[in-house]
Amino acid sequence: MTLKIGVIGTGMIGRDHTRRIQQVLAGAEVVALSDYNPDAARAVQADLAPAATVYEKGEDLIAAPEVDAILVCSTGATHEAYVLAAIAAGKPCFCEKPLATTADGARRIVDAEVAHGTRLVQVGFMRRYDAGYVALKEAVQTRTGAPIMVHAAHRNPTVPEQYLTPMAIHDTLIHEIDVFRWLLDDDYVSARVLFPRKADRAHARLRDPQVVVLETAKGVLIDVEIFVNCHYGYDIQCEVVGEDGIARLPEPMAIQMRLGATLQNPILTDWKDRFVASYDVELNDFIKAATRGTAAGPSSWDGYAAAITSDACVAAQDAEGTTVAITLPARPALYD
Ligand code: NAP
Repeated sequence: MTLKIGVIGTGMIGRDHTRRIQQVLAGAEVVALSDYNPDAARAVQADLAPAATVYEKGEDLIAAPEVDAILVCSTGATHEAYVLAAIAAGKPCFCEKPLATTADGARRIVDAEVAHGTRLVQVGFMRRYDAGYVALKEAVQTRTGAPIMVHAAHRNPTVPEQYLTPMAIHDTLIHEIDVFRWLLDDDYVSARVLFPRKADRAHARLRDPQVVVLETAKGVLIDVEIFVNCHYGYDIQCEVVGEDGIARLPEPMAIQMRLGATLQNPILTDWKDRFVASYDVELNDFIKAATRGTAAGPSSWDGYAAAITSDACVAAQDAEGTTVAITLPARPALYD
């Protein structure tokens, strides 16, 4: 069976996922496209999916009888309504992060999915599919002994003027928030944010860098440096300190050079290159599960947990140095 997919939002990531489905992955085809800007949808249709129908409204795409499953790739504020409509239609739905822009919105999706009775939603937390994180998780489960601490960094060369201090949490740290819950099989209980002196390159409305300290229910302390004007490259670091040993996230594959009396290792500069393979694996997982009428991978519950944690981290930015509690409600059995 070929899964017939409708894509809502045909900007940067919607176009890229459409390319993936049409040109890289097996078992699915894009049969419908929709965007707030119909010209953007028509451009993707012309370039990648000539047989697809362009719908003016995402709701009409979701209801279309030829559409088996939905990809929500529009701007974050529109996700909740589309995901709820997909659940109401009983169709599997891959939703780019964030699942919703508020924790209450994410909870509404959890409640709708629980009422439906089976999983239908996968959230686009693609780091769980990165080969390096998968290997790191295996090392943590089998070799490091019980984790005690995690030291991590998320560094971007630069960000635009529109990137404000809370976006370091909602747009940047959000990936660490999800992947460390998964890596440690643990939940957060508190967050604290510390700001060193502001970097010279940080623009006026951004406090950069910052250090977020998360504590988990099992007592693991996680420090994450977020430095989005680091200048030198896009660099993701993670080291797990356990009872018996320490495991590090592998560096991306690169040609090491001995040249001119130096030892050189190139560092990536674009986040799209860092996780390119994991996007293929996550969508392949979605296609396989959606073909069975369900969803796998990061769930609505994970999206909800990330939203609650993000809100606490933003509150911790505002209350610099103060510990902010993170409380997750009881997890519904659907997500066990
Ligand atoms: P983008 O290039 O701005 O594309 C978003 C598209 O959605 C635009 O074409 C926009 O049209 C359209 N849109 C806005 N409101 C809509 C609505 N109500 N219905 C249908 N389409 C609508 O943004 P992007 O970079 O692709 O990001 C899209 C989502 O993916 C965001 O939530 C982002 O956080 C997420 N994302 C995730 C990753 C990841 O690593 N997992 C990476 C990148 C992006 P207009 O331009 O006319 O507003």
